[in-house]
Amino acid sequence: MRVTAYAAPAAGEPLAPTTIERREVGPNDVLIAIEYAGICHSDIHTVNGDWGPQPFPVVPGHEIVGTVAEVGADVTKHQVGQRVGVGCMVNSCGECASCLAGDEQYCLQGNVGTYASTDRDGTTTQGGYSTHVVVDADFVLTVPEGIDPAAAAPLLCAGITTYSPLRHWGAGPGKQVAVVGLGGLGHMGVKLAHAMGAEVTVLSQSLKKQEDGLRLGADHYFATSDPETFEQLEGRFDLIVNTVSAPIDVDAYLSLLTIGGTLVNVGAPPEPLPVNAFSLIGGRRSFAGSMIGGIAETQEMLDFCAEHGLGAEVEVISSDRINDAYERVLASDVRYRFVIDASTLA
Ligand code: NAP
Ligand code: ZN
Repeated sequence: MRVTAYAAPAAGEPLAPTTIERREVGPNDVLIAIEYAGICHSDIHTVNGDWGPQPFPVVPGHEIVGTVAEVGADVTKHQVGQRVGVGCMVNSCGECASCLAGDEQYCLQGNVGTYASTDRDGTTTQGGYSTHVVVDADFVLTVPEGIDPAAAAPLLCAGITTYSPLRHWGAGPGKQVAVVGLGGLGHMGVKLAHAMGAEVTVLSQSLKKQEDGLRLGADHYFATSDPETFEQLEGRFDLIVNTVSAPIDVDAYLSLLTIGGTLVNVGAPPEPLPVNAFSLIGGRRSFAGSMIGGIAETQEMLDFCAEHGLGAEVEVISSDRINDAYERVLASDVRYRFVIDASTLA
């Protein structure tokens, strides 16, 4: 099946309209008519070559929401017409310890990314900046009724990437949680941590988005450009989730943790993040990382969002504005996720 899409032809080059081939619907496949696809900073890192060579042309997009257009003979979980979502992965080995534990994102054979990845049949995956996609039913999520579909799309990456570490490190009542960077991931981190009952602080470069941050659920908001912030907040947080797409001064943020606190990095800059051992050992502190979340946990997150009336704050754009949106994300000028209206691709 030939479908329209938007692709990056080579590293650092503007994206342009194209057509791509989608596989035939196999027995365990779902054909999705895409409605919305979010623009994640990872799409930009990938097509700019920040993370190394890619199999260009690349159709990015791993925050996909649409409706089921067709299902394979063996599919029982999804029905035609149902609203569904696809996140950052579309396959895994299904047999290793990670997959058996429901942590498909940490598949020991490597999970298959939604785009720019080699699928288990040897083909290269292409993502959601497209009108249709065919995905193995086991990697298709149910989008609960009640979440606006455009606002649901970013949950498939930004939502789960913040939900998973918040749950893993126990964000909840009585816990002081800080979110560094109020972008796509950060704004979901704030909403989710607040809904989980934690006391939430935003650490942003400036106070420009303070009003938004407080409206999204933060209790406190500080500018990291002000050196006094680091003095004032010393030893404050049980958990800091760093969503910044560029390197940060890890030692400075570790000093804001309680004894035994954790700084978890979800931001994925290509540069190394140096750490002074004394920043960790002096307070039994941890510097950790976390990647998206498993399929069952992603469904749990979607259901949690429906229950708490949560979705992303989105700016819906037509496909001809993708390159402008990339520039604005790079300039931290996004409130708080660009989402492509896939009907403008047709
Ligand atoms: P985004 O929307 O661009 O948000 C990043 C935010 O970081 C910006 O809004 C800005 O917030 C802050 N920031 C940007 N440049 C900065 C700098 N030089 N110094 C300090 N702060 C800066 O990006 P995103 O889509 O949320 O993604 C964030 C990062 O997470 C990316 O690296 C992405 O690849 C990664 N990611 C990781 C996973 C995972 O599984 N671990 C999943 C998805 C994305 P303020 O203006 O508030 O300072
Ligand atoms: Zn993403």
